[in-house]
Amino acid sequence: MTFESHLLKQIQPSATLLLSAQAKEMQKKGLDVVNMTVGEPDFYTPEHIKDAAKQALDGNKTFYTSFFGIDALREEIVKYIKKYYDVDYQRQNTIVTCGAKQALFNALKATLNPNDEVIIIAPYWTSYLEMIKLCGGIPVICPADSEGKVDIKKLNQLINGKTKWLIINSPNNPSGVVYDEDIIKKIVNITHENQHLHLMCDDIYHQLIYEGQFCSPLHIDPNLQDRVLIINGFSKSCAMTGWRVGFAIGPEALIKNMGTVQSQSTSGICSIAQYAALAALQQKEKTQEFITQMNHINDKRRLKLIDFFSQNGFEFIKPNGAFYFLLSCQKYHGIKTSTHNTITNDTEFSQYLLKHHLISSVPGIEFGFPNYIRISYATSEEKLEKFMQRILTLNKDFSHSESLIHEQEEITK
Ligand code: PLP
Repeated sequence: MTFESHLLKQIQPSATLLLSAQAKEMQKKGLDVVNMTVGEPDFYTPEHIKDAAKQALDGNKTFYTSFFGIDALREEIVKYIKKYYDVDYQRQNTIVTCGAKQALFNALKATLNPNDEVIIIAPYWTSYLEMIKLCGGIPVICPADSEGKVDIKKLNQLINGKTKWLIINSPNNPSGVVYDEDIIKKIVNITHENQHLHLMCDDIYHQLIYEGQFCSPLHIDPNLQDRVLIINGFSKSCAMTGWRVGFAIGPEALIKNMGTVQSQSTSGICSIAQYAALAALQQKEKTQEFITQMNHINDKRRLKLIDFFSQNGFEFIKPNGAFYFLLSCQKYHGIKTSTHNTITNDTEFSQYLLKHHLISSVPGIEFGFPNYIRISYATSEEKLEKFMQRILTLNKDFSHSESLIHEQEEITK
């Protein structure tokens, strides 16, 4: 046996997780790698959320829960959605999942037949592509315009009778771009023109916006409720990546089928993590205070980098939300490095940065957006300073990289 199905042969492991692991391995060896690959806030989970988990444990909330999630949490999710989207749902419209990732997976698994098409917009979160294939569907990539926003004309051309879903993600990972009302209106118009099309809105970063405003297709047309699935979770807004709590809210029949997938895979989410998430929604003021503080710090980091890149001739896509930058590396293509290799693409550039400048990043090709690298600025001032110092040397002196790595090699000997 090869331990690999035909289907799995077509699937790539998560590039961001692999690159982050590579950076951590280098750090373990004593190399001072600045890890800019991470897709998680560098904050601890707020105390009131941790306290609720401790209480749940002491209260013996340790049994299986409904595979849809505990009722109280589903009810709070309904209220949360009412607050931010101004649409009415019932508890039966929601499912609690193992992170937003499993909500996406459940929805695709529940709905895709072989060769059904799902449109994703480049730059896209790297997991969409592989999850669609894993669920038997065909990912269809719609390119972005020069600002990293969706090319509406192209989007129109890509929709056909086999298109089941369009996935939209704003604020976007990897670009940090926030879709404005104008774009969302155009997407809503397309949805009206194509009655078989459904929208999967991955809104995991909707609370992490520094400029502009979050806009959902449901803000433009609440009547689309039957054709929209909202995906969200606690990982990013509540610094709860390790707890693995996400959710989906949408048409009841779809949620029921997602529940079937979940009941035969994970049986539902860790009970203690669900009680923690419940506290995050019930104790709104404390949670909001945390998010405001985190956003304030991340916005300062964002502005610092915008300033730095602008002043030093780096091209980038301006992010207004989440905590990522797409930085162009096109100008380095064709350049010979100090070790006499020529950089020809973003993957080589990213590896060059890691090996010679000890900066880990993710190549844009992993997000369907070549010639860029993604860096995450959810990291300390000190690390950002180091990153800026090191990346500056790119423009001046490629030989600096040699000395840096040699210094590090000395440390690890
Ligand atoms: N969607 C996007 C766009 C993401 O960036 C991520 C995580 O990086 C997820 C979903 C998954 O989040 P979770 O940790 O809730 O599974």
